[in-house]
Amino acid sequence: MVLSSTIAREAPTPAHICPMDRSCSYLQQAASQLNLDTNITTILEHPRKVITVSIPVKLDTGEVQVLAGHRVQHSDILGPYKGGIRYHPSVTLREVSALAMLMTWKCALLGIPYGGAKGGIAIDPNQYSVGELERITRRYTSELIKDIGPAVDIPAPDMGTSAREMAWMMDTYSMHVGHAVPGIVTGKPLSIGGSRGRQQATGRGVMLAIREALAERGQSLAGASIAIQGFGNVGSSAAILLHEAGAKILAVSNGSGGVYSEGGLDIPALQAHLQDNPRQMGTFPGGEAIGNADLLLLPCDVLVPAALEDQITAENADRIQAKIVAEAANGPITLDGDRILADRGILVLPDILTNAGGVVVSYLEWVQGQSYVFWDEERVNREMEGLMVNAYHRVSATARCKTISFRLAAYTLGVGRVAQALSDRGLYP
Ligand code: GLU
Repeated sequence: MVLSSTIAREAPTPAHICPMDRSCSYLQQAASQLNLDTNITTILEHPRKVITVSIPVKLDTGEVQVLAGHRVQHSDILGPYKGGIRYHPSVTLREVSALAMLMTWKCALLGIPYGGAKGGIAIDPNQYSVGELERITRRYTSELIKDIGPAVDIPAPDMGTSAREMAWMMDTYSMHVGHAVPGIVTGKPLSIGGSRGRQQATGRGVMLAIREALAERGQSLAGASIAIQGFGNVGSSAAILLHEAGAKILAVSNGSGGVYSEGGLDIPALQAHLQDNPRQMGTFPGGEAIGNADLLLLPCDVLVPAALEDQITAENADRIQAKIVAEAANGPITLDGDRILADRGILVLPDILTNAGGVVVSYLEWVQGQSYVFWDEERVNREMEGLMVNAYHRVSATARCKTISFRLAAYTLGVGRVAQALSDRGLYP
């Protein structure tokens, strides 16, 4: 694989966990399934633009820290670049590049008119005050001012960011151009043109993908046993919606620990506990403590990795006891882990399908903003469900008819659509 020179400058990550290798390997597999011209595959392997900016920020102590902020724009073949901004200590340019590529396939698979991008800063947002985070976000936005725009590149929340950061980005961009530009970001607060249902959208999409997969096996969500690793925005929304649908949530975990209950956890009670005792998951009285690694090995119908990358690896994939693994996080399974799960006949619902609900509602937010007509939550959820369920069944039918994994089917559909557009547009000049 050839990496762009900027990405290659970064210290290499061990091969088995290099996120860019994983993304390129899945791209290659889809390309060979589609019999793609190698020239097209070579173009698609490379991000179109890789941007790293310095973000000098004055901390509350008066000290100035200089952070690196990345934005990788993988492809705008189908429309404006689209993708989240991640604030997490594990952010690297390689990871952001791999995630930008995933966004391209995700949007193409879902049939929404966007390309793919991702941004990030390697910080733990919990270590910064609100004022510091605001200064970081505003300076990052202003450094990217020429590279983003409502018709160019539209950021959104991702791990460690939320509607609050989107409002700061929108305000900074608007101040630079001299008028309000709500369409510069999605996932923004309702007060400035956000969409109802956006916050829960990724978790809702995860619930829908699981519901459809269980239904194809003649099972319903009611009574299905589910373990969820990660209780951030995505994991907690999925847990709430799955619990509401009657699923038995056996265990959930986050960075501070996990809880397990054989009879199923009371998710609203757990949420209330976390409100009163932030970051103390393990002390929830309605279950016993369980570690993140043990949670992955629980016997259950569905395992939902909704946290970080590389959680299911060659080391633990042969001990996974779930029948279905639903990738709510991006890239939670390594290449080796994926091969082992496939050999063992465990159905993997791939990230580019399973967690697409967020960007689908970002698209619906953009549609509402363009038409100045805002929908109620029921309408947003209905439109999103239509797009998600349709994509699920296209992936499932492709997997069945070509006898390939759901992941390869999803990639084949996403990559195929982008490749077709690229060959129709032709190569400039
Ligand atoms: N960060 C989300 C994702 O990875 C949403 C991106 C967006 O809405 O643009 O899919």
